Amino acid sequence: MDFMRAVGVDLGGHHVAAGLVEGAAIAARAEERTAPSREVGAVVAQVARLVHSLGASDAPVGICVPGSLDAARERGMMIANFEGWNGLPLRKLFEEALGCTVVIENDANAYALGEGCGMRDYVVLTFGTGIGGGVVVGGRLLIGAHGMAGELGHIVIGREERCGPGCRGLGHFEAICGADALERAASEKLCQGASVDLKTLWGRREEPGVSDFWDAALENFARGVASLVHVFDPEAIVIGGGVGSGEGFVDALRDKAYKYISEPFRATFDLRPSSRGTDAPIFGAASLAWEARGGRSFP
Ligand SMILES: [Zn+2]
Repeated sequence: MDFMRAVGVDLGGHHVAAGLVEGAAIAARAEERTAPSREVGAVVAQVARLVHSLGASDAPVGICVPGSLDAARERGMMIANFEGWNGLPLRKLFEEALGCTVVIENDANAYALGEGCGMRDYVVLTFGTGIGGGVVVGGRLLIGAHGMAGELGHIVIGREERCGPGCRGLGHFEAICGADALERAASEKLCQGASVDLKTLWGRREEPGVSDFWDAALENFARGVASLVHVFDPEAIVIGGGVGSGEGFVDALRDKAYKYISEPFRATFDLRPSSRGTDAPIFGAASLAWEARGGRSFP
């Protein structure tokens, strides 16, 4: 049972992607725009159809969803962008539609598991519109007492900045370094209120003014990353997401982070770019399904 063969599904607000994972590769894939109604029956049927199209009816299925789940991984608690899904018995609904046992997980956690690549203790951070992440300790996802551990976008690095709907806490990492917050700040500081494309702005990071903006932003990213180093003592922190995958971003962030890190941790500090990118949640969801069946995903 050491050669993984399982289906992973990444259910997002815009796209749903299913992949048949065989070992360290995706042997078959199916992807579509998420059913526009986002109504639970339509989406569950869509996921079942995509999974069946992979032609691997004997493979176990793991599905990751964009939001938090209860500690037992049965129900959705706060599913972003899917109105009416909170409290639904999602695992049971998927099982009925698929006709097999299903494992469900939060998408950021699945992303984290999918980036394992032989590590046992590590942290994954995705820097995009939001800041997601997951923590793996001793080869297992950190779940927490209520199923909500690893909400790395909500660690506090500021004071007054208010986090978005569904959180509303103050000073959170995401409220300062999420792409929406960065775009707002860049628009005010650099473009007299005109809209800003962060990717383009990162490409112009050597220009006067723009470099000051990124300098200040990277200091904030660095504070968040350094805090996590001290809490988890990870083998590595893996950086993904649209902002995090910008060319040279991880190198720039590593340089900024050192001064915030306590000396004993500097020698082991390892910040690296995501190796699987948007495929990571598919690998992670598949590995959970495989392990639930008794297999070992990352020997
Ligand atoms: Zn928050």
